[in-house]
Amino acid sequence: MRLLIVEDEKRLALSLAKGLMAEGYAVDVVHDGLEGLHQASEGVYDLIVLDIMLPGMNGYRVCGALRAAGHDVPILMLTAKDGEYDEAEGLDTGADDYLTKPFSYVVLVARVKALLRRRGRTAQPVLRVGSLTVDQGSRKVERDGAEVALTAKEFAVLEQLALRAGDVVSKAEILDHVWDFAYEGDLNIIEVYVSALRRKLGAGSIATVRGAGYRLVTGG
Ligand code: CA
Repeated sequence: MRLLIVEDEKRLALSLAKGLMAEGYAVDVVHDGLEGLHQASEGVYDLIVLDIMLPGMNGYRVCGALRAAGHDVPILMLTAKDGEYDEAEGLDTGADDYLTKPFSYVVLVARVKALLRRRGRTAQPVLRVGSLTVDQGSRKVERDGAEVALTAKEFAVLEQLALRAGDVVSKAEILDHVWDFAYEGDLNIIEVYVSALRRKLGAGSIATVRGAGYRLVTGG
């Protein structure tokens, strides 16, 4: 899952990003409305956290422009204080939810998770693939009923494979959803995580499809 935060208060944006990354999401941050619209238009995000008062272009207009262009990505709007802006206006522009600053971090995470679930990004919170259970809600993995401890990134890589179990998923697709754009290393980082997953889940759990990517093996 890859999230975009569009927020011009840099400290707030960075602390939100850090927290959400610790939950296992890939997070990109931009501080300007126009840049936010540009990034969001690329269509790789599973959810956007969008401030309303932004330089360049305000959040209502960013949201409206995305919807007008046909993007249905879930949008959680942030605003400065209750009553300053019209909640109905935010929802009219096509925002899915609305959070008033100051908010607790725990509430933000809960809203993000609820929104991802509601919008079908995690329609099936528990993925079952062969003997594996990948719980997208609790972010826990079990193999034959026994919990397997994974790091947040390992989980995120496995999740992408499990969402398309049986299909070949390319390294680029995994990278797009699991790493943010600050990552400038090469695609081979994914091999490191796949090796770690194979060690923990069994050597035969993930097949390499030469030149194409990886496939989570559905049998056994
Ligand atoms: Ca702002």
